Amino acid sequence: MTELLSDYLGSKWQAGSGAGTALFDPVLGDELVRVDATGLDLPAGFAFAREQGGAALRALTYRQRAALLADVVKVLQANRDAYYEIATANSGTVKNDSAVDIDGGIFTLGTYAKLGDTLGDRHYLPDGEAARLGKDPLFQSQHVLVPTRGVALFINAFNFPGWGLWEKAAPALLAGVPVIVKPATATAWLTQRMVRDVVEAGVLPTGALSVICGSSAGLLDQLQPFDVVSFTGSADTAAVIRSHPAIAERSVRVNIEADSINSAVLLSQAGPDTAAFDLLVKEVVREMTVKSGQKCTAIRRVFVPDALYGQAAEAIGARLSKVTVGNPRNDAVRMGALVSRAQFDAVTEGLATLRQHAQVLHDGTRQPLIDADPAVACCIGPTLLGASDADAAAAVHDTEVFGPVATLLPYRDTTHALALVRRGQGSLVASLYGSDAAALAAAAVELAGSHGRVHVISPDVAQLHTGHGNVMPQSLHGGPGRAGGGEELGGLRALHFYHRRSAIQASTGVLGTLA
Ligand code: NAP
Repeated sequence: MTELLSDYLGSKWQAGSGAGTALFDPVLGDELVRVDATGLDLPAGFAFAREQGGAALRALTYRQRAALLADVVKVLQANRDAYYEIATANSGTVKNDSAVDIDGGIFTLGTYAKLGDTLGDRHYLPDGEAARLGKDPLFQSQHVLVPTRGVALFINAFNFPGWGLWEKAAPALLAGVPVIVKPATATAWLTQRMVRDVVEAGVLPTGALSVICGSSAGLLDQLQPFDVVSFTGSADTAAVIRSHPAIAERSVRVNIEADSINSAVLLSQAGPDTAAFDLLVKEVVREMTVKSGQKCTAIRRVFVPDALYGQAAEAIGARLSKVTVGNPRNDAVRMGALVSRAQFDAVTEGLATLRQHAQVLHDGTRQPLIDADPAVACCIGPTLLGASDADAAAAVHDTEVFGPVATLLPYRDTTHALALVRRGQGSLVASLYGSDAAALAAAAVELAGSHGRVHVISPDVAQLHTGHGNVMPQSLHGGPGRAGGGEELGGLRALHFYHRRSAIQASTGVLGTLA
């Protein structure tokens, strides 16, 4: 039997009482560890985090909590090698892809440590200026933001066990709100190990950070009116969470990050060997292959002018044919595995659906694997599909295949392109490629209403831009409509989710003593 990972709740490590669910190496097929949450005393654990962890965090100032984040960064940095080993074994990722999750998480924490330090030694955040309520200026209204007096429950997706924890925990802890994280089962090991290291280092107040691995059963039932839930995962699970009584009846605040059919649009009419064209091709291939396309922000639809459809297909296909796939432990491999057999089956099924509406322009499904047994390894090469009638290909605008798959689509003019992009019904990110600054800016504003982020790549930022799919802590992450309607990150904006706004009506003298 493999090791059963412990859960940390109510300031103690405890093992679930069930047999546990096994986690596997998606390349070698070996069982790695097991997780289980059966029989945990959830009411006591949530109460402990809420009462002990919350009180201890709220007793600190923003600057002191920012210093805690900096301490967490040090702990994680000291244990990076172990995280890389776990990511290789459990997520099947090559080193560069593990870095997106591990170092991306550490970078995000570090960014919030710096941002938090600017908030100073206070226990609340002023929200705007005081406003006089009558003719006499003595009696005024000052809006304030104070930490919510509950727990932040994170229910996370399998694709970012590291970053997915810290991009949420950094603003929550900085805000003064204790965290309970339930990672996706398939890749829970890395999350559990990171929490274990931070708990063992003793850098956070007791009850500030807890982890429950295994089933989500009963978690939402624990939620009280001042708790918040941040969920990342599929639209189906999001719907279950939204309709849970805690959310529907107790007004528990919820943030949802769900599926997204993200787009890349070439706004230039110029073809191969122009900067805009080449930048699009490079970015599409990068997005299709980083983490084997298992990024919620990955490019799924690629829009190019009619006249460039064939050349774009050729250029993207040529680059994809150089992508080596297989065992991430082999240095010759550029793209590792999907995280599990279930994901491999889901990608295969999604591809079959899309193939009914599109033709295959580059087929990665029969690509030989390096150092991996195709009967065991959950590896699949990148596939580019194409649909010459973008309007008719309804499934392409609607189906998220969570793997190395994208579809090329031609458009007539900019109005047509932007209308097609919006058929994604709200996305996390769209990227635009061109060299006409005014045209790029106009399209960016046009798409801002349906996208959490618009990433504009012009030749002058070819070496500087941060990448279509890279989520930077300074920028908003989330998207309207089908993307879940959530908002995360965006610098200090992220703190709002973990605060309550209140208007304090008092004399100027009283307001002057708020601390
Ligand atoms: P999922 O099946 O919805 O699972 C997500 C999380 O929800 C897991 O921790 C899962 O636990 C838990 N869960 C499952 N059923 C639940 C229930 N009834 N109540 C409460 N929690 C429940 O999603 P997934 O397949 O792991 O993730 C892939 C999806 O996430 C993709 O569609 C992708 O687009 C989306 N995603 C979005 C973002 C974003 O930021 N917008 C980022 C990454 C991924 P178990 O693992 O134990 O089942």
